Amino acid sequence: MPYVVAEPCINCKHTDCVEVCPVDCFYEGPNFLAIHPDECIDCNACVPVCPVEAIYADDELPEKWEHYGEWNRYLSEQWSTAGYNITEKKDPLPEAEEWKEKEKTEQDILTWESQGE
Ligand code: SF4
Ligand code: SF4
Repeated sequence: MPYVVAEPCINCKHTDCVEVCPVDCFYEGPNFLAIHPDECIDCNACVPVCPVEAIYADDELPEKWEHYGEWNRYLSEQWSTAGYNITEKKDPLPEAEEWKEKEKTEQDILTWESQGE
């Protein structure tokens, strides 16, 4: 029952979550973080520190975000291979506050390829 990062994380990247993860299983994209499901030990430490309540146990994901389980696997594997493990907190994205309340979907998730990196 790994934990999953869902839609509210998009364009936020406060990264409080990565600091508390005992197994460093967060992977970073340009505007989203994903948890590697095979590395997460289900400790729940990241859930209370996320300021936008983006993290859920996969069997507790709101129905509208159930597909984020698959997205976390897909993206974390891609970003792991590309060397984007993130273990230290960094500043949030400049538009983080603005995006907190905005409508967004998984189509807003950027990949490093789309950034030309
Ligand atoms: S703290 Fe929450 S919103 Fe911020 S990067 Fe982690 S999961 Fe995303
Ligand atoms: S539940 Fe624990 S192991 Fe899994 S991502 Fe969160 S802090 Fe890391």
